Amino acid sequence: MLQTTLACAKCGSTALRKNGHSHGKAKYRCAACRYQAAFEPAAPRKAAQYAQVEKLLVERTSQRSIVRATGVARMTVAKLAKKSPGQAAAASQAQSAPHPGTG
Ligand SMILES: [Zn+2]
Repeated sequence: MLQTTLACAKCGSTALRKNGHSHGKAKYRCAACRYQAAFEPAAPRKAAQYAQVEKLLVERTSQRSIVRATGVARMTVAKLAKKSPGQAAAASQAQSAPHPGTG
């Protein structure tokens, strides 16, 4: 189950109650300080960012440029680069572990 952790922007409390919709986004009200806003879950936004990163990796954009363009942390870009088919060959050359039992 996908669980999104929403926190109040004012007091940081996670005791948020759904309170209607605004511009297609769910509106929430903090039970602690009664601050009300449309809190955006981090997961869908990150998924869109990661898709953008992977697209730039395919185009052989440098990791530093990707960080500047997308705002994704450099460590995350490096992690996605290992998964990307374009740079997977270079990454696999570095780690050639012997297989026990075979050969
Ligand atoms: Zn609050």
